[in-house]
Amino acid sequence: NPSEISGFRAKDDAPANMLVPKEKRKVKAAFVSLVRNSDLHGIRKTIREVEDRFNRKFGYPYIFLNDVPFTDEFKQGVRDLVSTNATFGLVEGEAWGYPEYVDKNKAKEIREKSNYINGGSESYRFMCRFQSGYFYKHPLLKDLEYYWRIEPDVHYYCDVDYDPFLFMKENNKVYGWNMAPTEYMATVPTLWDSVDKFMKKYPQHIEPKNFINFITKDHKSYNGCHFWTNFEIANLDFYRSQKYEDFFKFLDKEGGFFYERWGDAPVHTIATALFLRKNQVHYFGDIGYYHPAMGFCPKNSNRSGKCVCDPEKENEMHYECRRRWDTI
Ligand code: GDP
Ligand code: MN
Repeated sequence: NPSEISGFRAKDDAPANMLVPKEKRKVKAAFVSLVRNSDLHGIRKTIREVEDRFNRKFGYPYIFLNDVPFTDEFKQGVRDLVSTNATFGLVEGEAWGYPEYVDKNKAKEIREKSNYINGGSESYRFMCRFQSGYFYKHPLLKDLEYYWRIEPDVHYYCDVDYDPFLFMKENNKVYGWNMAPTEYMATVPTLWDSVDKFMKKYPQHIEPKNFINFITKDHKSYNGCHFWTNFEIANLDFYRSQKYEDFFKFLDKEGGFFYERWGDAPVHTIATALFLRKNQVHYFGDIGYYHPAMGFCPKNSNRSGKCVCDPEKENEMHYECRRRWDTI
């Protein structure tokens, strides 16, 4: 066994299945993922990386949510990999589907002529609405203070050798992100009009030192900038707040989750820009990341030895909204 021969063993070598006792975790936090049974292999790859890069040292649990019951195969496939415990929850009732005031026929007609990505999908819209206004209400998340969203088939390029939950807690950070692309405007043509109405109706909810200039140039239109929510570390009290609830309820009434294809990423991002100060939001520029279609590689990471990506090729500064972040 090479690990028993001195010189082969890495200093911080820990067995992959090392159990970090619950009382050692510094923050009431968990990984949370909404997934389908068919995502098993994709989410297993993600878990493997999350464990190797971070969690085998920190020991946070996992929560998986699904609109249909998880199969035994899924549960076992996940449990075989996690170093801690995984719980599995069902998404039910109003959290998944149409609110009663949405016209389903109109929604269907709109889907049939939507030619943007996922435009024809009903379940994608249920997913976006759930991720916008319901995930944090799930009973399995009740005791959590922070959460870290993970998705199938992503890559964590770098070692994370500190606890991002603890970092956020100690530094009063509410929201953490690592990539900020530009939204397909065809999916959100009237979102800004609705946000504008919301701001007029609830001026008391708007943070005086907000960073609305991240998401609009002229306050008359949305520039499409959004934090990519497939990675998101957040204090759940933000979502549980009255402000956020009023915001989600208002947008839901507008119908854009169904008559357009509003994503949870622009919805979360606009909420942070309206309700938070910039210094409550943290850019995790050290958590190199890839989600199918694009990724970024931390600057100088080719010399750190802790990342497996090329910072020239996947330069964070290629992204317009990432650059904008530094200017606001
Ligand atoms: P994209 O990231 O916008 O391309 O969307 P994805 O297809 O990756 O979906 C986002 C997340 O929601 C992923 O974790 C999916 O597994 C999950 N998801 C998407 N649609 C459904 C669905 O209908 N049911 C369930 N349970 N999960 C879904
Ligand atoms: Mn995805």
